[in-house]
Amino acid sequence: MAIKSPVSNKKPGNFVRLGLFWAIIVFGILAVVALVSPQDNLKSVPISDVINSANNGQIAKLEVEGDNVKVTPKGSDNPTEKSVKETGVSLQDQGLNKTASVQVTVVPQSKTGDTLWNLAIIIIPVVLIAGFFMFMMRQAQGQNNQAMGFGKSKAKLYGIDKEKVTFNDIAGNDSAKQDLEEVVDFLRHPKKYEALGAKIPTGVLLVGNPGTGKTLLARAVAGEANVPFFSISGSEFVEMFVGVGASRVRDLFAKAKKNAPSIIFIDEIDAVGRKRGSGMGGGHDEREQTLNQILVEMDGFETGANVIVLAATNRADVLDPALLRPGRFDRRTNIMLPERRDREAILKVHFKNKPIDETVNIDKLAAKTAGSSGADLANMANEAAIVAARRNAKKISNADLTEAFEKVAIGPERKAQVMNDKEKEITAYHEAGHAIVGHVLPDSDPVHKVTIIPRGGTGGVTWFLPPEDKSYTSVIEFKDVLARALGGRIAEKIVYGEDRITTGAGSDLRKATEIARDMVIEQGMGSKLRDQVFHDDNGGIVFDKMTHERPYSDDTAKEIDIEVAELVKEAARRAEVVLTQNRASLDKLAKALLKEETLEEQQVIEVLKDAKLPKEAKLY
Ligand code: ADP
Ligand code: ZN
Repeated sequence: MAIKSPVSNKKPGNFVRLGLFWAIIVFGILAVVALVSPQDNLKSVPISDVINSANNGQIAKLEVEGDNVKVTPKGSDNPTEKSVKETGVSLQDQGLNKTASVQVTVVPQSKTGDTLWNLAIIIIPVVLIAGFFMFMMRQAQGQNNQAMGFGKSKAKLYGIDKEKVTFNDIAGNDSAKQDLEEVVDFLRHPKKYEALGAKIPTGVLLVGNPGTGKTLLARAVAGEANVPFFSISGSEFVEMFVGVGASRVRDLFAKAKKNAPSIIFIDEIDAVGRKRGSGMGGGHDEREQTLNQILVEMDGFETGANVIVLAATNRADVLDPALLRPGRFDRRTNIMLPERRDREAILKVHFKNKPIDETVNIDKLAAKTAGSSGADLANMANEAAIVAARRNAKKISNADLTEAFEKVAIGPERKAQVMNDKEKEITAYHEAGHAIVGHVLPDSDPVHKVTIIPRGGTGGVTWFLPPEDKSYTSVIEFKDVLARALGGRIAEKIVYGEDRITTGAGSDLRKATEIARDMVIEQGMGSKLRDQVFHDDNGGIVFDKMTHERPYSDDTAKEIDIEVAELVKEAARRAEVVLTQNRASLDKLAKALLKEETLEEQQVIEVLKDAKLPKEAKLY
């Protein structure tokens, strides 16, 4: 959540005002101090000199004010020197002759100096404190003004004249388009529906993974209906000052109503629309007020308001139920990750304006990008163009495409990273272990590629690709996936010994444990704990700590741990059987990897042609 620092939004004018303000305060203090300490230009002299001079008849007048003595020499009208006598001692006691021809006047001690000082001691702190408060108030006010101004300008208007998006710009997503076609029709022909007494829906929730084209779809609805499009992101609502979010919502809706018929698009609605839970802590207030304002505005649409609110999220399950009530976001459109055919269509959209040569095989790329979102694919197309441009080519080749795919899917190759020979060998055996276990087990996907070139944080990679997109996974398939995930660690153990295994398997083990837990907890795939799920909800947040309520007993929790451990142990055992009985193939593949660094599907199959599935590793 991007919390904007108010300081960064400060206008330069504020600095000038601030400087002026402090200058006035400092000036005031200096003035008071100057008043309090009156200046004279008299020369200070020791009292003994004054008395000597007086005794010698050189002095006309001595004015005594407390202990201060002002000296007026003969021939002068005004005092020219000053001195200080001992406290409580008269000038005579200090040695002034009674006979000296000097006029001694005692002036009552002036209180002005002291009074001014006393006054200053009272006034200065008051002035400082008052100044400080004024300063704070100005700051707060300034921020509010800024924030309000912000709220007003923040909702982006994609008007009719702006670059228009239509459904034709969106590949795939057919069912979502169909759902939204209806919304387009509401906006185009509201009378048709009103005539029949139908209430036009106010809110549609677009649910889907990031990058699946939710924003694109919302813009296309506006484009198709030829209406203005106002968009804002839920994370932008979250500001430091309470009330700002709500005022933004008010402003956004007011603008949209003024321009009706129109579309409001709220991206990342989960940032403000999470379940209102414990309601503790100041941070929640702002969110809640914003959310409430959204609800109030949506409820306040009169018939014929003709504003439709589209909201996007990838976590519909965390949304506050109040948002989903009838009259609010009561319609929902699910946007799925694209299927192979759709991926091909999306890639074609993004290669439309890019020159490609005849080697490019978009269909093949579509086949191996299972799980990629539209945004990933758009990114790949762009990367491919960049890769081609870097080698000064006129057209994009298939090799560029492959490099772009690997870059986006796993992170860029890090050929530069140094790995010593020993580590390289360990990596080769580790990856060979994954590859052989996956290759030999009947229900694992085939090996697509093995490499010991470090990439995006991993030492090497072994890729398995399903021959076609799959929606379901069976217990047997899960078990083969578990075994091949442990294949790397087990290969290290077999080759180098129990105590020479490395941290290279860290992420494999984490993944394996995750899969095993998922099987037992979410999929009802334990051996004793079959057909039951032990999913605990997301919990609530109490005092910033997650609280989980387990809907099962401690005994069950223990049983879950045991089942998970057994699944992992079984997988390790199967991997070990496969690798010990195919030791020759393991050595051969590791050696091939050390030599080639990267092996493609066909090369792996060739190297592993003697690998066999041992009887003990079979599940059926
Ligand atoms: P979301 O809002 O779901 O996170 P976006 O709508 O912002 O995703 O999509 C990001 C980008 O991905 C789009 O600008 C577009 O280039 C690309 N994209 C996503 N889905 C598609 C699609 N179905 N067809 C074409 N391009 C797509
Ligand atoms: Zn591994």
